[in-house]
Amino acid sequence: MRNPPATIRSGVTLRDYTTWRVGGPAEWFAEPGTEDELIALASWAVAEGLPFRCIGAGSNLLIADTGLTGVTLCNRRLQGSVVDPTEGWVEAEAGEPIPTLARRVAKAGLSGLEWSVGIPGTVGGAVVMNAGAQGGCTADWLHSARVLDPARPAEPFTLLASDLDFAYRHSRLQEEPLLVLAARFRLSAGQDPAVVSARTSANLQSRTSSQPYQQPSCGSVFRNPEPEKAGRLIEGLGLKGLRVGEAQVSPLHANFIVNLGGALASDIDRLIALVREQVLEAHHIALQPEVKRLGFEGGSRWDLP
Ligand SMILES: Cc1cc2nc3c(=O)[nH]c(=O)nc-3n(C[C@H](O)[C@H](O)[C@H](O)COP(=O)(O)OP(=O)(O)OC[C@H]3O[C@@H](n4cnc5c(N)ncnc54)[C@H](O)[C@@H]3O)c2cc1C
Repeated sequence: MRNPPATIRSGVTLRDYTTWRVGGPAEWFAEPGTEDELIALASWAVAEGLPFRCIGAGSNLLIADTGLTGVTLCNRRLQGSVVDPTEGWVEAEAGEPIPTLARRVAKAGLSGLEWSVGIPGTVGGAVVMNAGAQGGCTADWLHSARVLDPARPAEPFTLLASDLDFAYRHSRLQEEPLLVLAARFRLSAGQDPAVVSARTSANLQSRTSSQPYQQPSCGSVFRNPEPEKAGRLIEGLGLKGLRVGEAQVSPLHANFIVNLGGALASDIDRLIALVREQVLEAHHIALQPEVKRLGFEGGSRWDLP
């Protein structure tokens, strides 16, 4: 093995990098502060033939207690954005928190991202997941994303939103190993900053009062099986409050699983499987997790029909 880059560390506990506060160590881990650093780290991983992934704020991840092999790069230090209030453009680096961006563009009189203020992820994660809430989603406003193919780390390129196969909580980036470096949004210019900011704040307020924001979670665990709502199905079966170890179906919102303090990833994994089984048995609906599950051996407990 060539000497690892100076900024890479081994054995870093990933629970500190997920909002569920679970997850074992990363074999190799770094938080690049610049795009050049990210590209150098990606080049090293590729040259060493190591498995390689990028995470943002870890707000949609269930990482196994045994941790992750290979290289894990966390983008949350890659922050910054450039706003053009006249033309209605904003370009943000992948690690920019999406709520920060929502506040920033609102103050500049740009409307479009008000829905995103309660989503505690990064811009990169929002593009990959096609994050959405309160009637809006990333696909509605994204113009393009600058991406990197780890197999060709020296040649970042741009994909238009129309190239990303966006669907409900889906983009093709969930299947392809491309890293998002930055995203460009086209927003509605010339709005009253006070009005856009007030709408943004109201959106946040309505979420924090109806969802368990004070406890570690990953937001909604399951996609909604339209026209049904996953939370309504789970609540209807009386599963609010159900526990495995310190993992609990939130008494406030049934599509959230919260960590009561000492949950293991395996507790959460078992609870997700239990909820799925019960909904399948009662309603013949196989709920699909929205959460990404990393580092678990073999077949998934969630692989039900
Ligand atoms: C309290 C709470 C509320 C939530 N509410 C919502 C909601 O209303 N709507 C919603 O859609 N989601 C919601 N979520 C889930 C989550 O915040 C979103 O899915 C978010 O977009 C994930 O962003 P992230 O940066 O945390 O990504 P991560 O969780 O770190 O990663 C998610 C996936 O994206 C990949 N990824 C991340 N960054 C990059 C990158 N730069 N390049 C390539 N791949 C990358 C990861 O490998 C992983 O596969 C909520 C979560 C919490 C904790």
